[in-house]
Amino acid sequence: LEEIRNTDPEVAACICKEVERQNSHIELIASENWVSKAVMAAMGSPLTNKYAEGYPGKRYYGGCECVDEVEELAKERARKLFGCEYVNVQPHSGAQANMAVFFAMLKPGDTVMGMNLAHGGHLSHGSPANFSGAYFNIVPYGVNEDGVIDYGEVRKIALESKPKLIVAGASAYCRIIDFKKFREIADEVGAYLMVDIAHIAGLVAAGLHPSPIPYAHVTTTTTHKTLRGPRGGMIMSSNEVAKQFNFNKAVFPGIQGGPLMHVIAAKAVCFQEALQPEYREYQQRIVKNARALCEGLLKRGVQVVSGKTENHLMLVDLRGTGITGKEMEHLLDEVNITCNKNAIPNDPESPFVTSGVRLGTAAVTSRGMKEEDMERIAEAIAMMIQDRSRKEEAKKIVKTLTDKYPLNA
Ligand code: PLP
Repeated sequence: LEEIRNTDPEVAACICKEVERQNSHIELIASENWVSKAVMAAMGSPLTNKYAEGYPGKRYYGGCECVDEVEELAKERARKLFGCEYVNVQPHSGAQANMAVFFAMLKPGDTVMGMNLAHGGHLSHGSPANFSGAYFNIVPYGVNEDGVIDYGEVRKIALESKPKLIVAGASAYCRIIDFKKFREIADEVGAYLMVDIAHIAGLVAAGLHPSPIPYAHVTTTTTHKTLRGPRGGMIMSSNEVAKQFNFNKAVFPGIQGGPLMHVIAAKAVCFQEALQPEYREYQQRIVKNARALCEGLLKRGVQVVSGKTENHLMLVDLRGTGITGKEMEHLLDEVNITCNKNAIPNDPESPFVTSGVRLGTAAVTSRGMKEEDMERIAEAIAMMIQDRSRKEEAKKIVKTLTDKYPLNA
């Protein structure tokens, strides 16, 4: 930071303020995490100086021998971690990984079934506002009244719409996803199955959520959510499928130029961390913390979509409280709890307002917080929904916790 301060005090001041914000707030955004110092250092390394268009051994630039080694390390570790044959670690983000797969497997206008954004899916699974919705014929599926995927309904929609690709995976779904069932449906209708494990990648790596690798034709992920790596994306499949659709070509030169070698180095470091025994314990704590937070809310009369969580996140259902998701996000911000408003299934409010907030426990778990701390957070959240005269009390709970677990930076 000293170096930045000397060159650019304005940016240094912004970074300092952000560190202070992260330190003084409880981070419950389900897609965020706190990376290790090693991952952070790899991202800030001189590898950012290197152009390396192409793939290890087949680059369009000279001087790539060191970054070739880094990319091979990242790939080797990813294969070991997820048990896949083929991996591409170059996508700059999860959305780019998905874009590369769509362009590799489909032609514009092809029919794709993806989870409705309003029911927990991701923009890149077919939202009209995204390339996926603009270039492909999207048939959405969703969750039932209980907030759970109804596989019978998914099958029915698939039989009717005959998609070329079915996308499983979500941004705001708190139950285990049955990838085997998705594959059976895909096989029955002659579709390919893509699974996007962006949110649950850490849980999958640790064996706490069933892996899609045996079932999906192709699996995509981000590397920065529960996985706890740098911001980025990744594509995995069998060698056969990778060869058939040439995912490498779809990433580069298809949709990207030079890979971010400093980020790929940080991915390699993250995978190395994830291969250690402590990592499984970390992922177990994320799940335990999510359950504790969820139970803490439920016992205080706060409603949660589908009535429980089986992974790292939950959706608070604010209908009947007189508070919208947008208002709740602001209210929690006032007591230094950060989360995001989120549509709940069949939300009566617009996506800009919503009737829910999404809460996740990956970041607070990285920070060291435990189940008893989740109980305190649930107390603070419930106060802000039910009795805002206790705002100062809620703030005090947050301060006690943030002081107890200072930022490791
Ligand atoms: N896929 C899913 C399921 C996600 O939740 C997200 C991000 O929230 C993405 C893809 C996109 O990732 P990125 O923001 O890196 O493009």
